[in-house]
Amino acid sequence: MTESKSITAQQYNCDILIIGAGASGLSLALKLAPHAKVNVLSKGKLSEGSTFYAQGGVAAVFSESDSVDSHVDDTLIAGAGLCDEEAVRFTVSNAKESMQWLIDTGVNFDTEVDKEGNTQFHLTREGGHSHRRILHAADATGREIENTLLNAVKKHKNITLMEGFNAIDLITSRKLNLPANRVLGAYVWNRNEERVETIKAHFITLATGGASKVYQYTSNPDVSSGDGIALAWRSGCRIANMEFNQFHPTCLFHADAKNFLLTEALRGEGAHLLRPDGTRFMPDFDEREELAPRDIVARAIDYEMKRLGADCMYLDISHKPKEFIVKHFPTIYRRCLSLGIDITHQPMPIVPAAHYTCGGVMIDHHGQTDIDGLYAIGEVTYTGLHGANRMASNSLLECIVYAHACAKDIINRIPFYQERKFADIPAWDDSQVEDSDEEVVIQHNWHELRLFMWDYVGIVRTDKRLERALRRVQMLQQEINEYYSNFKVGNNLLELRNLVQVAELIIRSAMSRKESRGLHYNLDYPEQIDNPKPTILCPQND
Ligand SMILES: Cc1cc2nc3c(=O)[nH]c(=O)nc-3n(C[C@H](O)[C@H](O)[C@H](O)COP(=O)(O)OP(=O)(O)OC[C@H]3O[C@@H](n4cnc5c(N)ncnc54)[C@H](O)[C@@H]3O)c2cc1C
Repeated sequence: MTESKSITAQQYNCDILIIGAGASGLSLALKLAPHAKVNVLSKGKLSEGSTFYAQGGVAAVFSESDSVDSHVDDTLIAGAGLCDEEAVRFTVSNAKESMQWLIDTGVNFDTEVDKEGNTQFHLTREGGHSHRRILHAADATGREIENTLLNAVKKHKNITLMEGFNAIDLITSRKLNLPANRVLGAYVWNRNEERVETIKAHFITLATGGASKVYQYTSNPDVSSGDGIALAWRSGCRIANMEFNQFHPTCLFHADAKNFLLTEALRGEGAHLLRPDGTRFMPDFDEREELAPRDIVARAIDYEMKRLGADCMYLDISHKPKEFIVKHFPTIYRRCLSLGIDITHQPMPIVPAAHYTCGGVMIDHHGQTDIDGLYAIGEVTYTGLHGANRMASNSLLECIVYAHACAKDIINRIPFYQERKFADIPAWDDSQVEDSDEEVVIQHNWHELRLFMWDYVGIVRTDKRLERALRRVQMLQQEINEYYSNFKVGNNLLELRNLVQVAELIIRSAMSRKESRGLHYNLDYPEQIDNPKPTILCPQND
C-alpha cells in the first residue's frame, strides 16, 4: 500500500494505544488510566479472546505449605531446560501481588472454610504443580476475570474502548524514513465503517493473544491469529521460540462443536482412549497409559490417527456408572447430549488441538520490545517463562504480572511525551485497490494453510515435512501479498496475511531446532542436545 490522503477516514490521537482486550490488555489499561488517555482495540466482540474461555485458573503461592522456590522449580521442570530462570523468578515472585490486585478489582475466586472456621481461597492442583496453588472461579475462571476487568474498564473516563477495530500494521519512524526507530501509531481497519483509519500514540502495547488458529484444530477462539507477532515482525522486532506450540490432547471432534475441550479430569477418572475399532492404544505408548503427560498423550493420538488415516480417535467413559458421569461432568454430558452423543453409553470422538503459543515477541521485564515505545504483554510474547513447555495456569499469571510491569515503565516515561506533538503520519491510501471479487481465494488459502500446518508442522515433525510446509507457505505468501496489494482489506484477508507470516516463523524455528525437546518433536532428531538455546529470529537478517 502507498500512503496519501483519504477523505473519509478518521485520525485518533491518544497517549497509549493497547491492541487487545483480554486479561493482559485490560489489566494494563486499568493501571494506566489514572495517568493518561488510553485507547483499547478489540477486533471482534470485546470479550472474545482466549481469556474468556480459560477454565482451570491462575497459579500463585497462597498456601503456607507452598513456596516461591517450589513454584519456580516446577516451572523450570515443565519448561524442559529452556526457561529463562530470571523471568520465571520475576513472574512467580510477583504472582501474589498481581492476584491480590485482581481480587481488589473484583474478581471472585472460589473460597472454602477451613477446620478453624476461617475463609480461605480454594486452591486446586494441576499437572506439573507440586502443590495446590491454582486460584479459580469454578471451571470458568477466564470468564470471571474478563467480565470483571471489562466492567471496571467501562467505568473509567480515561479509557476509550474501540470494538471492531483490527490493527493492520504499526507505523514506525523507520518506515517513514525518520531517524531512530520509534513507534508512532497504527493503521486500523474499522469494521463497522469498513474503512482504514489512523491512530497516533506515544506508546503502543501489543496484547493480541496467541496464534493457535494457524492449525486446523484449535481450542482457541477465532481471534487467535497471531496478529501481534506478525505486526511486530514486520516492524523489525525479534521473535523467539515459535516451534513450541502446546496441543491439548482431547478436543471434541464434531462439526457443530467448535473448540470444545474435554477436560483431562475425564482421563483422571478412568476414561480410556480408543481406536476406531474400540481397542485401547495408550498402554502401547507409556506405562502411565491414559495418565501420561499431555504432550505424550497428544503424540500418541496423532501417531495413531496418521498411521490409520483416521479422522479422529475416541475417549470413552461409558464403563462408569451413569450417576457418576452426570455428577462429575455435567457440562460435558449436556454438551455432548445436545450433539447426539450420550457419553454414558457412547465414546466421544476426539482430536488433539492447538492450545497455546509458547513463543512470540521478545520483551524485557517491562514488556519493552526491540522498538522504542512499543511494548507487548500476554500470550503474544516470549518472556522466557514457559521455555519448551508451558505449565498449566502460568499463562494468565504472566498476563497480569507483565501488564503491571509494563504499566510502571510507561507511567515513568509518559510525562516526557505528553506535551510532545504527534508525528505527521500519512493517511492510508486505498485509491489504487478494488473490492475483492474472489473471496474464494482467501477461503481456499485459509483451509490449505491450516491443514498443511496440522499435517506437516503439528505434534510430530520431520525434516521432510517441514521442508514441504516451507515451500507451500512461501507460495501462499506470494499469492496473499499480491492479493493484499490489489484488493481492499477485510478481516479474513488481514488474518490470513498474519497467519501465513506466523506459519513461516513457526516452520523456520522448527527447522533450526535439531533436537526433540518439550513440545517440539522431530522424528529425525529424537534426542536432546546439550546446552540448548532459545530460537531467536531477527528480521534485520532476512
Ligand atoms: C480453552 C482455553 C482454556 C485455557 N485455560 C487456561 C487456564 O486455565 N489457565 C491459564 O493460565 N491459561 C489458560 N489458557 C490460556 C490463557 O487463557 C491465555 O494465554 C490468555 O488468556 C491470553 O490472554 P491475552 O490477554 O494475551 O490474549 P486474549 O485473551 O486472547 O485476547 C486477545 C485480544 O486481542 C485482540 N486482537 C487480536 N488481534 C487483534 C488485532 N489485529 N487488532 C485488534 N485487536 C486484536 C482480540 O480481539 C482480543 O481482545 C486457556 C486458553 C484456552 C483457549
